[in-house]
Order: sequence, then structure tokens, then C-alpha cells
Amino acid sequence: MNLTVVDHPLARHYLTTLRDASTGNEGFRAAARRLTNVLVMEATKEVPTHKGTVDTPMGATTGHVLADVVAVAVLRAGLGMLDAVVDLMPNVKVGFAGLQRDEETAEPVEYYVNLPQVDGASVLILEPMLATGGSLSWAVDKAKEAGATDITCLCVVTAPEGVARMYQDHPDVRIVAAAEDEGLNDTYYIVPGLGDMGDRLFGTIDRPPL
Ligand code: URA
Repeated sequence: MNLTVVDHPLARHYLTTLRDASTGNEGFRAAARRLTNVLVMEATKEVPTHKGTVDTPMGATTGHVLADVVAVAVLRAGLGMLDAVVDLMPNVKVGFAGLQRDEETAEPVEYYVNLPQVDGASVLILEPMLATGGSLSWAVDKAKEAGATDITCLCVVTAPEGVARMYQDHPDVRIVAAAEDEGLNDTYYIVPGLGDMGDRLFGTIDRPPL
């Protein structure tokens, strides 16, 4: 497995906005979208293109058209990265993989999977918080079961525990991230991290306990 931590001033800037506890929902969503733009640039560096001819106003030249790309958003936090992906690649096909975290074990419990045709496509899995690695490893399993062979995971923050699990479960996938943090706390949140990505994206942070 190959982990690339993107070292770019814009990535550092938007990551800091996301980490900042005083950033509100609007700023958080915008920073997630902008940071994903930077991550997508790195993650798609090896995506194939088909050569063709394009007629410019001045004559014909060689052009390039992006081959098939599929994005899989791991629900719900992966949705915060999806707009940027669709904006940069309007033809992208989009799948969803829905998991709930078991609060006792932090292991994923599946509740929804809906993937488009993935064989032959470059598959980008959007999972912003690579904590234990349980969700991401499961989402990669689902993509592989559907026929995906070329898989890149886009993460905002990773913990060494999650990276180690991905090395073990999926040595063939790439991970592109904005940070590798110190580790997990005893409730499996990433430290220093940015808190609960889904809650901060969707404004459920002040939700009373169920
Ligand atoms: N999921 C989150 O949203 N944040 C963490 O720190 C870990 C998992």
C-alpha cells in the first residue's frame, strides 16, 4: 500500500480550518470541499486518458479525455468530499457505502451499499477520517467484490492504526491524505484530528444523545 500525505500550502491551510474548533458548519463545508480539490489533484495523477483529436479555432491538435472514474462516498462523512469530486469530474459515476460505527467496538455495521459499474474504472473511495481503518477496509472490500482493481482512497486525516490496518488488509490500494496524526483516543477518535467529521459537516454536533 502506498500512503501519500499531500504537502501543499493550500492543503495545510484548509486542514487547519477544519481542525479549528471555532469553524462553523459553513466554513467547515467549504474547507472540506476546497481541501478535497487538492487531494483529487494528487489522487488522479495516474488516471488514464484517451487520446483524440480536437479542433481548436486555429486547427486540429491532440486532446485528452479522462477515462472512467467512479467515486464511492462512505456515508455519511464522505459526502463532504463529493461535491469537489463531481465538480472536477462531472462525468464521474457515484456510489455509496453506508456504515454505522458500533459505539462499543468501533467496528462498522453495514446498512446501505449501492455501487455503479466499477470494473475497468479508476475508483476513488471518499472516507475523510481513517481512524481504526474498519470502515475504509470494508468499503474497499465492497469495491473489490464489485470488480474494482484500481483503487485510491481519499482521506483528510489518518491515524497510524488505520494506516497499519490498510497495509495489512489491502496492500494494493493507494491512500492520499492531508495528514497522518498521532493516534486514536480511547473512544477511537483521531488526535489531534478535527472531531467528528459528520457532525461538523451536517450540524448534528449539538444533537442530544439518542
Ligand atoms: N470519525 C470522525 O469523524 N472523527 C474521528 O476522529 C474518527 C472517526
